[in-house]
Amino acid sequence: MNILVINCGSSSLKYQLINIEEEKVYARGLCERIGIDGSRIKHTPEGKETIINEIPMNNHKDAVKLVIDALTNNDYGVIKNMDEISAVGHRVVHGGEYFSESVIINEEVKKAIEECSDLAPLHNPPNLIGIEACEQLMPNTPMVAVFDTAFHQTMPKEAYLYAIPYELYKKHKIRRYGFHGTSHKYVANRAANILGRPIEELKIVTCHLGNGASVCAIKNGKSIDTSMGFTPLAGLVMGTRSGDIDPAIVSFIMEKENMSVKEVDNLLNKKSGVLGLSGVSSDFRDIEAAMKNGNERANIAMDVFTYTVVKYIGAYAAAMNGLDAIVFTAGLGENNHEIRRDICKHVEFLGVKVDEEKNNCRGVERDFSAEGAKVHTLVIPTNEELMIAYETKNLLKK
Ligand code: AMP
Repeated sequence: MNILVINCGSSSLKYQLINIEEEKVYARGLCERIGIDGSRIKHTPEGKETIINEIPMNNHKDAVKLVIDALTNNDYGVIKNMDEISAVGHRVVHGGEYFSESVIINEEVKKAIEECSDLAPLHNPPNLIGIEACEQLMPNTPMVAVFDTAFHQTMPKEAYLYAIPYELYKKHKIRRYGFHGTSHKYVANRAANILGRPIEELKIVTCHLGNGASVCAIKNGKSIDTSMGFTPLAGLVMGTRSGDIDPAIVSFIMEKENMSVKEVDNLLNKKSGVLGLSGVSSDFRDIEAAMKNGNERANIAMDVFTYTVVKYIGAYAAAMNGLDAIVFTAGLGENNHEIRRDICKHVEFLGVKVDEEKNNCRGVERDFSAEGAKVHTLVIPTNEELMIAYETKNLLKK
């Protein structure tokens, strides 16, 4: 069964064609600058050279058409015709309180996705445009929506409610939603698999540490708390995002710096995090390089980042009343063994013990806990596209 996985942004469309039985990516690619001058498609059939085609794309429908053309092309295509695509799995960022799992897309689902646009104005509208473009070009192919927020819908009230007037939750749906759900779910399931234990018996903290970063407490296979909140600005210190701050700082900055709401929003989302602290970069590789050159602010940024991850791990071990495993994933979590080591060192009191040699790896699945450690520590590369393909297949089977 071949599943086309689509991730639509406002001017971009990422895709992968995955054969789910073989867990094999047949081709992957990216349409860029949709609706803007200089649009192009980059298409990579697995194991072959990338083809770059600079071609006008007025809208997402044009882009989907080019994706299908590329996938079925005589020279660099990977399937003979569109009928070989059994279903399309769409990444959708926000499912609000409507969706606690993936769903087959129909008119009602699209309406609900639209209603959630208020909560994710930059993401849900392009997600929906991508769905409709695919529907127009593949009217007989089932479409599935997989939500970033769905996995966290199992959080109990005490974890998702903010202590603001309850009416505001009712009126404006202000609550913790959490994000990166597809990634947290994927790596937690892989961890259970690697440990050879049913996920229903495990207490796991998953650390998705990339440019955007979040931590999740997964008890018996269900998300019971996560560090991102109403928006992906909350929780950990990130590349450019502040993470948790005292909310009173917002009005204070507005007054002192004579800034508008929009400007402060931009400051906290785009100019804060390790970039804001270090003044160097949002990329952890640059931060590390600066640290090696003795840059004190880069050191501070790294310490603050590490400290916030440690605090969340401790908090979530308490929230679950125990801990069996900590999982590291995403750009930084998968590639940077020093950060993994430093974080783990802080939580040795929980029964964590790292085997430094095993930890010295990148981009592989590995349990790097030392002999006798009570809590397993694992690195697991995330694969949101594969997870979306699995969710799509499972729904079709139902
Ligand atoms: P992501 O958002 O998951 O793509 O992660 C991006 C972050 O991962 C960037 O801040 C990078 O600094 C970090 N990263 C990616 N690759 C590496 C690597 N090989 N070594 C260290 N950090 C990396």
